[in-house]
Amino acid sequence: MLHKLGVAVVALGIAQPALAQSQRVSAPISDISYEITADSSAVGRRQLEVTMSFTVAGTAPVILALPAWSPGHYVLLWFARRVSQFSAQSNGVALDWRKLDFQTWEIKPRSAGTVRVSFNYLADAVDRAVAWTAPNFAFFNGTNLFLYPAGRGFNWPARVSVRTEPSWRIATGMDPAPGTNSFTAWNYHDLTDMPFYVGRFAIDSTQIAGKWIRLAFYPAASLTTARRDRTFAWLQKFVPEQIAVFGEAPFRNYTIFQRSDTVVNGGGLEHHSSQVDEVTTGQLDASYLPGLYSHEFFHAWNVKRLRPADMVPYRYDGAQPTTWLWVSEGVTDYYGALALVRGGVHDSTEFFDFIADEIASVAGAPPTAVSDASLGSWINPTDGSSGLYYPKGGLTGFLLDIMIRDASDNHMSLDNVMRRLYDATYKRGKGFTGADWWSEISRAAGGKSFTEFARRHVDGREPLPVDSVLRLAGLRSESDTIREPRLGISTSTDSTGVSITQLSPIGAAAAAGARVGDRIVSIGDVTISNDDSFEPLRTRYAGTTITTLPLIVRRGSETITLQLPVRLTTRVQVRVLPIPNAPERAARTRNGILTGSISLGGVDLGHPRPTN
Ligand SMILES: [Zn+2]
Repeated sequence: MLHKLGVAVVALGIAQPALAQSQRVSAPISDISYEITADSSAVGRRQLEVTMSFTVAGTAPVILALPAWSPGHYVLLWFARRVSQFSAQSNGVALDWRKLDFQTWEIKPRSAGTVRVSFNYLADAVDRAVAWTAPNFAFFNGTNLFLYPAGRGFNWPARVSVRTEPSWRIATGMDPAPGTNSFTAWNYHDLTDMPFYVGRFAIDSTQIAGKWIRLAFYPAASLTTARRDRTFAWLQKFVPEQIAVFGEAPFRNYTIFQRSDTVVNGGGLEHHSSQVDEVTTGQLDASYLPGLYSHEFFHAWNVKRLRPADMVPYRYDGAQPTTWLWVSEGVTDYYGALALVRGGVHDSTEFFDFIADEIASVAGAPPTAVSDASLGSWINPTDGSSGLYYPKGGLTGFLLDIMIRDASDNHMSLDNVMRRLYDATYKRGKGFTGADWWSEISRAAGGKSFTEFARRHVDGREPLPVDSVLRLAGLRSESDTIREPRLGISTSTDSTGVSITQLSPIGAAAAAGARVGDRIVSIGDVTISNDDSFEPLRTRYAGTTITTLPLIVRRGSETITLQLPVRLTTRVQVRVLPIPNAPERAARTRNGILTGSISLGGVDLGHPRPTN
């Protein structure tokens, strides 16, 4: 997952102890299918209509449950909250049922035969893990809708059919099945990890490394020709770099589902063969998109397949914490940025800026072991360490990569670790343990021990040895304390411009008389046209001695000039810079990271390329 703060609605996570659901065992059921109705009538009421059908061999109680969370979104969302009008019947006769807990139902068949369970699902959540509808559109994820039989494991096939308007489209990663709008999955994990778009949205596709990569964008008008061409160009550059790390593209096809709106739960959520991204309309042309796509894409290997043993297999009835989320998320962040620089989407300065931001984020957070921060994802801690496993995990991965390349004179790298773990664990049907991780790191570094590093800097709170390790790659960091203007507002962008959505009562914009709903035209001599415009504003007036700036806003049909008091706040800015004339070994390490190349005896062997 990647969460972009800004105009974001944080999902409501209701923490409840998981019940002992795993002790409950349903009667066996077979021939499982689901029918989802997402026609204009249903979505007009912001409902999806769900019917699950299955066969029972007798009258033993059937126990069905809905997941508490969606893998990748490490928060308990309790999808059963959105269920209404639950019913069960067989041969047209209603069956007795009762709730066993808030997400589990017990149904009592009267005889062998087919049972149909139906309910409505409220689809109005602003959250990329939860169903959402518009008058011509529905999005849902399998975890929201697909009941499973408790205690019966997850290795059973199922069929899904979608009832919708004849002219509406359907996009999903599931395999097509015979029949109209029908699909199959071979097990529950796949079934719940193949999101659906239904309705009027734009779709386009291209081939990369022999695989079809699709864009499914809602609303349809958001997929302009220019955005399509630009997005395909990014993908053509960075996807082969990610394939090169693992040696294969393990999906049949891959879809980028993207919904844009003025208010979204911003960011992305990874799936087996897709990503679901939600961006504000102001971000549609912002510089952050390649990083979002690349991060989520890398998850197709790292976490969707190569995964900590704590999360293999997924269970769905409660939290599934792991101290290794920093590898699943932070190292994914690192590789997301690496693939962009190796593929030429970003230049080396942009990559070093990414590392610098991670250094600054870690420096700005309380001292927290990255393994503890990994566990914190489930409780969203308030001490400033929330989400720290992204930047600190990414930075830790970067430092380990440097140390491996330095120890092997750029013959081995973190790429080897990722590839070997993928082959030795995912491909053998299991997850990786801490022992697996550190033994592969040590092996890649020629037997060097990382026990002390792990004890002090991963499981412990000692600061990462950033400066000493950067030097091994011919890099150094500089930090400046800068004072820059802050307005005290949240904004959203659409075709009419940048609007104020929230106003801090003690902020500079409020003091100037700005109001929620005002559209900002310019501040001083900086034109405000989208979310990226505030960065040049901060740079332009950093450390300024000017005390007020003209703030021009459009309010209704009026254009008003307000006097904005300049309020400077302090921020530590970090820069990562190449050391000129660095020793050759350090320069080889630096070049190896940026290009993905390795060396032998100081000679560049180039960049291993995917063969498929
Ligand atoms: Zn992620």
